[in-house]
Amino acid sequence: MSFCLRRQSLPAEQFIMTSESADDNCLAWAARDPSGLLSPYKFSRRALGSDDVSLNITHCGVCYADVVWTRNKFGDSKYPVVPGHEIAGIVKEVGSNVRRFKVGDHVGVGTYVNSCRDCEYCNDGLEVHCARGSVFTFNGVDVDGTVTKGGYSSHIVVHERYCFKIPDNYPLASAAPLLCAGITVYTPMMRHKMNQPGKSLGVIGLGGLGHLAVKFGKAFGLRVTVLSTSISKKEEALNLLGADKFVVSSDEQQMMALSRSLDFIIDTASGDHPFDPYLSLLKTAGVLVLVGFPSEVKFSPGSIVMGMRTVSGSATGGTKDTQEMLDFCAAHGIHPEIEVIPIQYANEALERLIKKDVKYRFVIDIENSLKYCFKIPDNYPSASAAPLLCAGITVYTPMMRHKMNQPGDHSFDPYLSLLKTVGVLVLVGSPSEAKSSPGNLVRGMRTVSGSATGGTKDIQEMLDFCAAHGIHPEIEVIPIQYANEALERLIKKDVK
Ligand SMILES: [Zn+2]
Ligand SMILES: [Zn+2]
Repeated sequence: MSFCLRRQSLPAEQFIMTSESADDNCLAWAARDPSGLLSPYKFSRRALGSDDVSLNITHCGVCYADVVWTRNKFGDSKYPVVPGHEIAGIVKEVGSNVRRFKVGDHVGVGTYVNSCRDCEYCNDGLEVHCARGSVFTFNGVDVDGTVTKGGYSSHIVVHERYCFKIPDNYPLASAAPLLCAGITVYTPMMRHKMNQPGKSLGVIGLGGLGHLAVKFGKAFGLRVTVLSTSISKKEEALNLLGADKFVVSSDEQQMMALSRSLDFIIDTASGDHPFDPYLSLLKTAGVLVLVGFPSEVKFSPGSIVMGMRTVSGSATGGTKDTQEMLDFCAAHGIHPEIEVIPIQYANEALERLIKKDVKYRFVIDIENSLKYCFKIPDNYPSASAAPLLCAGITVYTPMMRHKMNQPGDHSFDPYLSLLKTVGVLVLVGSPSEAKSSPGNLVRGMRTVSGSATGGTKDIQEMLDFCAAHGIHPEIEVIPIQYANEALERLIKKDVK
């Protein structure tokens, strides 16, 4: 048993084996089928065009859209799906026509990466509503016919128009969720003039979108009421997010007390819910804006006719609004509440997102977790290389560290008394305790050391060493259908 069994962050799966061509220049995690399970993947980004910006992705937010398309919820997923449309990173290259960006700039990419750039909506900075359809950042079909791939990847190439400046003093990890969750609530708030100090705002739902609506509302000087199905969020809504009031929407008395008191409501709830009770909270000429996707919207005409109320919808925002929002957040110190995770945690994060078990947005630390890639020498079989990436490196690293590669000094025995003077015993397994008589160490100046898998330098060196010296693990190649039986046999140590 080795270290890889006990720490989620270092399983063998984080090592990507490169049997594909050298042109596969982008590391990523992708879903291959409607199970939505993400695993390492490599593909090619397009070459940099004269109007393009290429950025190294440092962070990517986890949005519910990632669940929708990795799991084919709309029936239009084009596998493999590389999700992610809350992208923050650093410019690594710009095309010859690009003037707005230079190498080293902090930048972001949101939910779309192309549009016609010629219709009335594009000309108005509302590219997401392009008459010919905007191209989504992932699972979209770009003008060249390729399927777009998102931010769970090492870099992205995008036309500069769909790239945004992230102010230098603003953390890249915090910027990521602004590029979908943030702009999705900011745009309707600006369009419906919810930035007038002293007015009152209701926020339905307190997830990734809702918690940012509360923060924007407070920054605009509004009195903010959170409308939630669960009392459990009250403390944080008031103390952490700064809401003025918290109302449990199922409590008729609390709702009655709020009747005809709100100027605006932002509805971020994606689950099905009635609308009449919320509309009754609006003042005359009040506005409710829907940004979530319940399966249907249904209300009594009386709820809007009486009181001249408006029900409107909104989906993310144009390039002009997006840049303005990023600058606003930096100027006013608005930061989303985030939980930063390694890419290896992405599957679990999506599960937790489905259960609404996140406060309030996951952000993947792409820069520090999606970088392990080792070249398997051409003459070395891939099947033999696989066990080297955990089993092999776990013994190779301590052997190198303790100079067991010197002829004559290679004793590796579990019994200390068998060691020569100044001998070394290295432990790579995990017995329940490590216990030895002091005498066995003191006499003979022996050493007991421990080691767990190895660093990237060692891994590449070991792969090359195995190829050069014809070292092949003894393996039994099995089909994936045999995996369960294989795990059972492994437990019984029935494997050679
Ligand atoms: Zn999104
Ligand atoms: Zn257009």
